[in-house]
Amino acid sequence: MSTFQAPKGTYDLLPPDSAKYLAVREAIATPLRDSGYGYVETPGFENVELFARGVGESTDIVTKEMYAFETKGGDRLALRPEGTASVLRAALEANLHKAGNLPVKLWYSGSYYRYERPQKGRYRHFSQVGAEAIGAEDPALDAELIILADQAYRSLGLRNFRILLNSLGDKECRPVYRAALQDFLRGLDLDEDTLARAEINPLRVLDDKRADVQKQLTDAPLLRDYLCDACKAYHVEVRELITAAGVAFEDDLKLVRGLDYYTRTTFEFVHDGLGSQSAVGGGGRYDGLSEMIGGPALPSVGWALGVDRTVLALEAEGVELELPAATSVFAVPLGEGARRLLFAKVTELRKVGIAADFAFGGKGLKAAMKAANRSGARYALVLGERDIADGVVQLKDMESGEQVAIGVNEIVAELEVRLS
Ligand code: AMP
Repeated sequence: MSTFQAPKGTYDLLPPDSAKYLAVREAIATPLRDSGYGYVETPGFENVELFARGVGESTDIVTKEMYAFETKGGDRLALRPEGTASVLRAALEANLHKAGNLPVKLWYSGSYYRYERPQKGRYRHFSQVGAEAIGAEDPALDAELIILADQAYRSLGLRNFRILLNSLGDKECRPVYRAALQDFLRGLDLDEDTLARAEINPLRVLDDKRADVQKQLTDAPLLRDYLCDACKAYHVEVRELITAAGVAFEDDLKLVRGLDYYTRTTFEFVHDGLGSQSAVGGGGRYDGLSEMIGGPALPSVGWALGVDRTVLALEAEGVELELPAATSVFAVPLGEGARRLLFAKVTELRKVGIAADFAFGGKGLKAAMKAANRSGARYALVLGERDIADGVVQLKDMESGEQVAIGVNEIVAELEVRLS
C-alpha cells in the first residue's frame, strides 16, 4: 500500500468493476443520443455565485455541501455539486438559445462533488449522467425525459424502481401555497432550525425525513389543491403522455426535492433495494432558472441520474450486465523471434478493429496462458520457434480448447472471419 489513500467519501473505479460504470453511463446516454440530445461538457468548477443563485442560497447543497474555495487570483469558485446550472450557463454563454432552434437538448456525463456525510450510496465524489431540454414549455418534453430515463433503466435490466411524480406549480400559484404552508408550519412543534427553514423555504420542510416531523405533516396543505388552471392542465397532459407510453408512475404529493429551481413537473426515480439513499435519479422543470442566473426567460426541463447508485441498484437486484470481453485475441510469443513477429501481428489485428492483447514481460508459456485466460479473449495465438520455421501460428479456441496451425499470413483474415 502507498502512503496515500483515496480521500474520505470517495472510491476508485478499477477493473473489472469499472466496466459496469462505463456500461451504465452508456446505457443512459444511448436513448438520449437517439432522441436528439447533443453532448455537452462543462468545467468541473464554476463561479460559486452560479450555484448560490441557481441551486438556492438556503439549500443544504449550497450552505453545507459545496466545495467552495478562493483561487490565488482571488476568484471564488466551487466544485460543481450538480449539472443543471452549469449546462444552462454554458448554453446561455454560447447563445445556443438564439440559434432559433428551441429547445436546445443537451446531455452530459461527469463527476460531481458534495461535502456530505459519507454512507453507502452517498459519496463526496459521485458520477451522474444528465439531460437538459432548454427553452420550451411543452408537456411532451417533460414526458420525453421521464420516458427516456425509464427506457435507460430498463435497458440495463432494472425492474424494481419507481417513478414518483408531482407538480410544484409556478410563479402564479406557488406563492399562495407557500404562504398557506408557512401558516400551517408555524403552528407545529418544530425545532428552531426547522422553523427557520419554514420561513426561508417552507416546501423543503415537506422533504424532512424524520418520523416525528412527518407525523406532524400529515394534514399539511398540499400544493395540488393550490395549482392554478394552467399548471393543472400542464400536469394532466404530462401524466397522460407518460401513461400512453406505458410508463408507470406514482403521484407523490409531497415530493419537492432539494433544489430551489424546480417549477411544475418534478420527479424522482427511487429504488427500493438501496436503503436510505433510495433516489437513483431525479429532475424536473425549472422555468425560472435562466432568469435567476441573468438570462432571458427560458422554460426548461431536465434530469440527472446517479451512476453510483444505479450500479448499486443493479447489484441489489442481482442483475449481471452482459459485458463483452475487452479482448478478443491474446498473443503468446515463446522466444525473442516470436515476440517481434507476434507483436507485429497484434498491431495488424488492432488496425482491422480486432481487440487484441499481448503477453508482455517475457512470460513463460504457463503464465502467459493464464494471462490469456484472465483477459477473457476468445482466441489465443501461440507462436514458438518451430512454428516460425514452419511459417504458421497456433490458433487456440479458448472456449473449446481446440488448436489449429494457421499460416502466418492468413491469420488476420482467419480471425476476421471467426470473430465476425
Ligand atoms: P440530485 O441532484 O440531488 O437530485 O441528485 C441526482 C442523483 O444523483 C441522485 O438521485 C443520486 O443518484 C445522485 N447523487 C446525488 N448526490 C449523491 C451523492 N452524494 N453520492 C452518490 N450519488 C449522489
